[in-house]
Amino acid sequence: MNRKTKIVATLGPASDGKEMLAKLFTAGVNVVRINFSHGAPDDHRQRVANVRAVAREMGKPIGVLADLQGPKIRIESFVDGSVELKNGQTFTLDTEMESDAGTSEAVALHFKPLLADVRKDSQLMINDGAIALTVTEVDGPRIVTRVDVGGTLSGRKGVNLRGGGLSAGGLTDKDAQDIKLAAELEADFLAVSFVRNAADMHLARRMLSEAGGNARLCAKIERAEAITALEEIIAASDAVMVARGDLGVEIGDPELPGVQKRIIAQAREMNRLVITATQMMESMISNPTPTRAEVLDVANATLDGTDAVMLSAESAVGKYPVKTVEAMSRICLGAERESGRGRAQSGLASHFRKTDEAIAMATMYTAGNMHADAIISLTESGTTALLMSRQDTSIPVYALTQYDRTEQYLALCRNVYPVHFKPSELNGLAPVNEAIACLKELGAVSTGHRVLLTKGDFTGAGGTNAMKIVTVE
Ligand code: PEP
Repeated sequence: MNRKTKIVATLGPASDGKEMLAKLFTAGVNVVRINFSHGAPDDHRQRVANVRAVAREMGKPIGVLADLQGPKIRIESFVDGSVELKNGQTFTLDTEMESDAGTSEAVALHFKPLLADVRKDSQLMINDGAIALTVTEVDGPRIVTRVDVGGTLSGRKGVNLRGGGLSAGGLTDKDAQDIKLAAELEADFLAVSFVRNAADMHLARRMLSEAGGNARLCAKIERAEAITALEEIIAASDAVMVARGDLGVEIGDPELPGVQKRIIAQAREMNRLVITATQMMESMISNPTPTRAEVLDVANATLDGTDAVMLSAESAVGKYPVKTVEAMSRICLGAERESGRGRAQSGLASHFRKTDEAIAMATMYTAGNMHADAIISLTESGTTALLMSRQDTSIPVYALTQYDRTEQYLALCRNVYPVHFKPSELNGLAPVNEAIACLKELGAVSTGHRVLLTKGDFTGAGGTNAMKIVTVE
């Protein structure tokens, strides 16, 4: 309970089985990601059942993030499995070719609107930019290109358009089915891929609610258009993901670092959660230690205030999933020693619209200036803890709640430590004394510590209306 930055790990063959999950949770995973781009519904059901069972046994709040595939455009397959593309050669994307008839001259791509989305000199990036093509001509159902960056290309790889502008959008039929699955799995977060605007998020929320789900929605920022619509997308979401794989391909490397920082800052400012994702520890897919560049990447995201850093292939198919989580955890902890020196700085000059917001900010301000040792939020929905976590501070926020859903949501929230707690009664001194006793037992506070505690006089989300200052006896 001493790392502020949370770790999201994508599950896959390398992280399957209850024993492995227990090791990953011990190493520091807070949230697991179920990637609907791979695997069948029953694989996802089994994984989530294992996660819930192991988390319960270990008494750890672990969030589940279900990630929709979205309208990813892919090439079809090659007769020989893969081909070698040479720089300067001609390579054609053919919307009318048989699916498995690809050769080193042409491959099928069955997304017909691409014919209208590209023009001469458009740049198409395949396999996260590993292969780069420049369009020389659109010839009826075929897009003729020149290979700028060649290499080995195998089937079903994703295609991006540099600069954005692909007309693929919204949610696919597969996404609609997977939203129902996410509701069935009682996922804590639903990540929506290739979001273009707030309307995409509103639609996903409506579909999830119709399916009976109540996951928090995470917008994956991975299209160039999403950057222009960033504010409205964040406003329509509960969390955002800097999905650097596709985003980097669409906007290009020079833009990516600044955009990452902008997304993290804006999400925090708008009281939303933010995950930094993709290739953070890429070399650990096959090596037992990270590169210096990866160490600095994870540390910089931590210093920028990301709620969570994410592992993709490293934990899903890598050789060292546990070592990777341990290394990531160590790097976050090291970076955190350089940030959040104790005083609330941002948001304090704002006009507070709601009582819980005013109490949360008053608590953060007072805690910083009194050098408090801990903050306790007795919370139902987790909102007060979320608001507190938007301040950069070294004082830990313990969110005490009787609801598993709230614990699993706050598992993603920076500097918030969810704890299962149900007071014997709601009023009087009982909840305060019992909360402190609970944290004392966990070793989170001890005699002489000065603690600030927030609570509400009534039950119900957003009911926080009081702050208490207590010295632990
Ligand atoms: C990304 O593109 O960075 C990303 C997280 O999306 P996915 O892994 O689903 O391609």
